[in-house]
Amino acid sequence: MTVPFSFDLQATDGSARTGVMRTQRGDIRTPAFMPVGTAATVKAMMPESVRATGADILLGNTYHLMLRPTAERIARLGGLHKFMNWDRPILTDSGGFQVMSLAGMRKLTEEGVVFQSHYDGSKHNLTPERSMEIQALLGSDIVMCFDECPALPADRTRLEDSMQMSMRWAKRSRAAFGDRPGHALFGIQQGGLDEDLRKQSADALQDIGFEGYAVGGLAVGEGQEAMFGCLDFAPDQLPTQKPRYLMGVGKPDDIVGAVKRGIDMMDCVLPSRSGRTGQIFTRTGVLNIKNARHADDPRPLDEGCRCPACSNYSRAYLHHVFRSQEMISGMLLTWHNLTYFQDIMAGMRDAIATQSFAAWEADFHAGRAQGDIDPL
Ligand SMILES: [Zn+2]
Repeated sequence: MTVPFSFDLQATDGSARTGVMRTQRGDIRTPAFMPVGTAATVKAMMPESVRATGADILLGNTYHLMLRPTAERIARLGGLHKFMNWDRPILTDSGGFQVMSLAGMRKLTEEGVVFQSHYDGSKHNLTPERSMEIQALLGSDIVMCFDECPALPADRTRLEDSMQMSMRWAKRSRAAFGDRPGHALFGIQQGGLDEDLRKQSADALQDIGFEGYAVGGLAVGEGQEAMFGCLDFAPDQLPTQKPRYLMGVGKPDDIVGAVKRGIDMMDCVLPSRSGRTGQIFTRTGVLNIKNARHADDPRPLDEGCRCPACSNYSRAYLHHVFRSQEMISGMLLTWHNLTYFQDIMAGMRDAIATQSFAAWEADFHAGRAQGDIDPL
């Protein structure tokens, strides 16, 4: 029997919320951080290692997968879960954002977007209907509406026109999604930083009706203060009893600030990408493993971390393999960063459940303000 998609909001503390999303492929504890598996892999990580960090769900990118190896090929091979050996929930984006940020030539019309692949220049068409078809071929558990997102700053006319087209596309996405028991379709609120446009967008989406709602169009260069300013009102415009997803966020303090303002889910490439470039997030701030100060340091990256990089390896070793460009470097450093991000989420879930979010948050900021441990 198919488990219907549902969201059980279990506790709140201020605007912060904790709960569980139930899907046919397992529960997702919220607030949730989704590692990004762009090309059917979270780079440098085995799927079982991603799970070991504490991730309940990961994100796949429609734009990349539709171009290579193609959604049709993945469907023939049994769907994305089987293809990449991840049997837990997957959320896929709609492809719209990455067409705008990655594709070569592109032409935007009411119908959708025609664009050239950044891999080989081949021509493709992405519409709400085609995006729904691709995400169904992939077998995604949480499907995102196809939308358009202008870069910020944008003038109000541009924001309003874009938002209204995204709302028409949301309606087309809902119709094309069809009846897929056990799967969820999320609408995406747009409207830039404008409270009135955000409200219009939230109302339009609720008239259509979705299983969850994303706050879209943020983390596109507006800065943390402006983003938090928008999150002071945007989540409250969305239904209380449905999950709220902030797309493409972010740094540890962005994540904590977003959860504080009522966000339930987020995704970002930051922990995995930084793992490959040697930038490490710890309970006491940020460090760069390529720095010479680590060359003779036998201590772990983070004394408080349970990951294999911290349990079994010294800073000196991690510095050495990074400088030597050994593959294990990206593997261990990504594992650490993803573990730290998941530990932040677990800490917030516990704090919200026990009504101690403010104390947890103060502790989080105090630890990070300390900065990295002193050199030996
Ligand atoms: Zn660690």
